Amino acid sequence: MPVSRDDVIAWIKAIAAMIAENSSYLTQLDSDIGDADHGANMDRGFKAVINKMPEINDKDIGTIFKTVGMTLLSTVGGAGGPLYGTWFLQAGMKTAGKMELGLADWAEALEASMKGIIMRGKAEPGDKTMVDALLPAVNALQQALQQNQPMHVALELSADAAKKGMESTIPLVARKGRASYLGERSAGHQDPGATSSYLMLKVAAETWKNSI
Ligand code: ADP
Ligand code: MG
Repeated sequence: MPVSRDDVIAWIKAIAAMIAENSSYLTQLDSDIGDADHGANMDRGFKAVINKMPEINDKDIGTIFKTVGMTLLSTVGGAGGPLYGTWFLQAGMKTAGKMELGLADWAEALEASMKGIIMRGKAEPGDKTMVDALLPAVNALQQALQQNQPMHVALELSADAAKKGMESTIPLVARKGRASYLGERSAGHQDPGATSSYLMLKVAAETWKNSI
């Protein structure tokens, strides 16, 4: 089965629960190399998203993603808000009018999200940002698509790739965002945004584990 509109809603609710659970962890990572607000920022944003759910429950996937994006843009401050807002706005444009997503649709949507984030934040791979988790995840999806893998397998491969990408940020020196103010001292710490991005893709693989 492809991913249905209801599955998309289930993913967003699962992200909100995962963020609430990991809020202190994400804030701890951000206190090492930033300003200790990443968990709180994301939690505020996804709590606002949950409050919007009754309005969008019966809408198409594009409208759901766009509403999530707008809500994150208006409630999450800092760098994370515009960047995560861009993730969902771009995904919403690619999925406008759709009531279900196959692997090709999801790969296209996540690629557009990543490109939007790169365009907005100007980060390159290796700059120690969420891009370091997203780029390998997008590549893994595209490879799985070419190999005709079932969607749930592709989602797991993309979450695994995002995890490796997240871990690859540990030795890096940050070149974008607040962590870049620390220069060399940012090395030795895992990037908070790469961590939240990985967790969101892991939750997608878990929530959509029956997709084919
Ligand atoms: P702020 O840095 O404004 O406090 P957050 O703490 O919510 O915002 O988010 C920090 C995360 O945002 C970083 O860990 C990094 O992954 C991501 N980030 C920051 N700047 C950029 C950028 N220019 N491009 C991509 N991601 C970025
Ligand atoms: Mg911060």
